[in-house]
Amino acid sequence: MVTVNSIEELFEVTKLFNGSVGFVPTMGALHEGHLSLIQQARRENDFVVVSIFVNPTQFLEGEDLEAYPKKEKADAKICELAGVDILFIPTIEMMYERDELKITAPSIRGFILEGTKRPGHFDGMLQVVMKLLNLIAYNKPKSFRAYFGKKDAQQLVLITQMVKNYFINVEIIPCPIIRDSDGLALSSRNIYLSKEERVKALALSRSLKRASELVMQKEFDVSTIQKEMLKVLIEIEVEYVALVNHQFQALKYIELNNTIILVAGRVGRTRLIDNLWI
Ligand code: AMP
Repeated sequence: MVTVNSIEELFEVTKLFNGSVGFVPTMGALHEGHLSLIQQARRENDFVVVSIFVNPTQFLEGEDLEAYPKKEKADAKICELAGVDILFIPTIEMMYERDELKITAPSIRGFILEGTKRPGHFDGMLQVVMKLLNLIAYNKPKSFRAYFGKKDAQQLVLITQMVKNYFINVEIIPCPIIRDSDGLALSSRNIYLSKEERVKALALSRSLKRASELVMQKEFDVSTIQKEMLKVLIEIEVEYVALVNHQFQALKYIELNNTIILVAGRVGRTRLIDNLWI
């Protein structure tokens, strides 16, 4: 594995790619969720690139940019063991200049749910993903795939739309959500949770399990499912419980194979999101 800290060096090494390229962008503090994306990229491509970049433009005032967990040594080890070819770790200065061209998330899909709770977050996220895709594919690989977790469902849908709207030559691969054995979706932010908070946080995945039970019993009414989920979430400061189709349009009734059930809330000071695709 080669660790690359400059754009010039990145272009030098990606010149040597003579096959398909799989790319996994991350913000580091890697866990099994990231690892599953990397492993899938490894299985499906000749070359695998992972980036670690805590992107300042997607953090809002008062969010955890400064405190975001950093584990560069452990991350490098995980990548090496997983067979990553290039670990790209740029600096903020390399990625941004002062007066930047901006990308704005679409006005409906980008402004509901996470878009409302974190205004500007998706603009910054799309901006950095566009940069990273262009950087990794700069030398025009034979084929180019980028791997994103369904854990960040709205992010995944918006990136897919950006690629379509801007005709970017990349295949976006959605990857399943990886959970701890108790059901908690893995997240770099889980380390902020105290023992008691971690137990409370399990209500998020339990509420989704409750929703899937209801759907299996043929309860398709969205407001009934939301009410039942909120009962499970009683100890959580819920931000939203939403049921949308795969285009992020609100639903009145569940559409099988075209529904995402999303939940977001705070446990103590930690904001958590989870979802289920049915
Ligand atoms: P992050 O480092 O949080 O920006 O995440 C990098 C990528 O890993 C994103 O595509 C996330 O959706 C994905 N990811 C994070 N947590 C999980 C998880 N528990 N299961 C699957 N993918 C995940």
